[in-house]
Amino acid sequence: MILPPMIVGSLPKPKWLAKPRELRAPWRLKGKRLFEGQDDATTAAIHEQERAGMMIVTDGEQRRQHYISHFCQGLPAFDYSRLVDKPTRGGKYAAKVPTIVDKVRWTEPVLLRDVAFVLSQASWPVKFTLPGPMTIADTAYAEAYKDEAELIFDLAAVVNAEARTLARLGPAIIQIDEPAFNAEPDKAREIGIPALQRAIEGVECATAVHVCYGYGTETVLRWKNANTSWGQYEQLLPLLAETQVAILSLEFAAPKLDPAVLQLAGNKRIAFGCVDVSPAAPEPVEVVAQRIREALKYVPADRLYPSTDCGMAPLPRELAVAKMRVLAEAARVVGEQL
Ligand code: ZN
Repeated sequence: MILPPMIVGSLPKPKWLAKPRELRAPWRLKGKRLFEGQDDATTAAIHEQERAGMMIVTDGEQRRQHYISHFCQGLPAFDYSRLVDKPTRGGKYAAKVPTIVDKVRWTEPVLLRDVAFVLSQASWPVKFTLPGPMTIADTAYAEAYKDEAELIFDLAAVVNAEARTLARLGPAIIQIDEPAFNAEPDKAREIGIPALQRAIEGVECATAVHVCYGYGTETVLRWKNANTSWGQYEQLLPLLAETQVAILSLEFAAPKLDPAVLQLAGNKRIAFGCVDVSPAAPEPVEVVAQRIREALKYVPADRLYPSTDCGMAPLPRELAVAKMRVLAEAARVVGEQL
């Protein structure tokens, strides 16, 4: 299997499950019906990926109102009834975040059934995503901590315990989502990357870290359009190259980054973001194929996974499918020429 395409993690939810095109949209079902609905939406998301040509699949994050809160709501220290206004991602955004009311500890698995279910439904190898310690800390108000580094390392221990447990069920890849690394590369160097290293210790499957510039939502697009500094990977890749993480999932399409920066990634496998996740129509297959060829100048084919830039939760469903098709077709065209 050469150049196996995969998405970053999330897909849009069906309209009957939650309001489309909205992050953190409230559920449209309750209780047992919600649970069943999430199962059905997960099955549909897996089939959509497999039909569109993905060769590694996720659960589409159909059970998650948000990629961070779904996990953290299962941790006793997080109080989601006390939401606090906080600037996040280095002041780029304003968010309502939960309060951490106690020291963060892992007591039992939170996502065990989520992983078991996607494994039971998928024909292809499965990737499962978890929020990373630095990104969780950035998205919380830490009443119980004076020292942010202490919080981030406590979270790393929690993510590690969860990841180790989930890995035993047999997913091919566990991916840690750390978009906060690009927002604050200095903090990533000092705390985030050592914490990531702690989070993946002893995890018995391949591990990945996803470091991106964010979703295709209006707020993020406004930031991306005004942003002029795209040098974060130059700082981060040499550091990530030194970690034990197997795969770096990175965004190249929307910021139009030169894949030459991948020379700094050592011999890591690369999930190469070559399809933009904005609400615009998908790029032509040939454009995406050309991006993959450019990346192949720096990464051997057996270490490259063509990928989307980021999660597609906020997109219209049919558009997400169209983008996956373009990704798969471009990967196939380039793979055949090799
Ligand atoms: Zn992302």
